[in-house]
Amino acid sequence: MNAEIIAIGSELLTPQRIDTNSLYLTEKLNQVGFEVVRKTIVGDDRVRLADELRQARNSSELVITSGGIGPTLDDLTRDAASDALGRTLVFDPSVVEQIEERFRRFNRKMAEINKRQAYILEGAEILPNPNGTAPGQYFQDEKGILIILPGPPRELQPMFEQQCLPRLLKLDSPDKYFTATLRVSLMAESEVDERIGPIYSAEARVATTILASPGDIQVHLRAKAATIEEARDIAEALALKVEAELGKPVYSRAHEALVNVVARLFRERQLTVATAESCTGGLLAETITSLAGSSEYFRGGFVSYTERAKIDTLGVPAGTIRDHGVYSAETAEQMALAARRKLDAALGVGITGVAGPDGGSDEIPVGTVFIALADQTGTTVAKRNLGGDRERIRGMATLVALEMLRRRILGIE
Ligand code: AMP
Ligand code: MG
Repeated sequence: MNAEIIAIGSELLTPQRIDTNSLYLTEKLNQVGFEVVRKTIVGDDRVRLADELRQARNSSELVITSGGIGPTLDDLTRDAASDALGRTLVFDPSVVEQIEERFRRFNRKMAEINKRQAYILEGAEILPNPNGTAPGQYFQDEKGILIILPGPPRELQPMFEQQCLPRLLKLDSPDKYFTATLRVSLMAESEVDERIGPIYSAEARVATTILASPGDIQVHLRAKAATIEEARDIAEALALKVEAELGKPVYSRAHEALVNVVARLFRERQLTVATAESCTGGLLAETITSLAGSSEYFRGGFVSYTERAKIDTLGVPAGTIRDHGVYSAETAEQMALAARRKLDAALGVGITGVAGPDGGSDEIPVGTVFIALADQTGTTVAKRNLGGDRERIRGMATLVALEMLRRRILGIE
């Protein structure tokens, strides 16, 4: 079944606020077999809103609105719904009692304008709002369903989960969905698509989405079928083919970020890690320690930014830097060894390179980064020529380090 979401509020049309309710609602709706075919944002404008409601109800069986049901004059969802459906608004004294009760609990007196929130579409059911004053409304006729929900996510989410989902599940939607996810490290979006395009195009029952951010690609395979089990089988069968084609760069099938996968490996294998960073300025340490509980495996890190710091604090031999340069495989290797040794860790990582935009040369252009990984078996160094601006180069270098850790621990390559 098709669904549309209308996010209401003039603030959502400014650069300061984004509509997150529709993301939440889309995820929940997909899980119970609704396909969201259109989302719109409408300001606090009665005529535009009524138009949008009419259109949405003409093309989709389910329409959900969020916002615009507060007590103030700019909250126009009730009036617009009344216009669009040609139904009057009925004053419901029981709603006023509930709002008054809520104010009493907070030792306040209800303002007269709150009575505006007690107007309910003729024929609609009231959806109580335990976290706010505005009740929601659930309306159904031969055309379909209209659900009116408040804007604040902490009010909308429990109301949707506790009061709307059970009603929608009873509708016995003919379509069920299941999404299989693959996460892929350090491949270009174009390469991923070139390789898996022929595979997913051959499966008409699956809608494929590729989401790309630098160094990290997500492949979402959403299957539609008559039952959840069937949808899962279809999606998983395709995911296996896609994974076989992409191979080693697939780091998660469970929608985890790379750092979470590496953290899990540290835990499972009881490994510890220490870092020595130059051009990433501690970004690798920051990424690892962004996870709660990282003290179990993260021993510590150095930000050894200058040559002096590399020599004096870390103990990188001055001769290594003199003979090979500060941006070199040899220096990165010494940094990794020093971090491992000084912090008594199983694994040591060293990163040195040129994040730019200045400081590059013909031999070592901006974006050249050396990433070294040391453990009891020895040291490996990767040299990468990373593109983009300073932020992207530092982010990519961090991801390369995490991917090297993952592969080393799993014994890949
Ligand atoms: P309203 O129900 O229109 O009074 O909305 C009250 C508040 O809820 C707004 O000021 C926003 O902070 C928040 N809000 C409204 N709509 C959304 C939305 N679509 N996504 C996220 N937050 C929202
Ligand atoms: Mg509003």
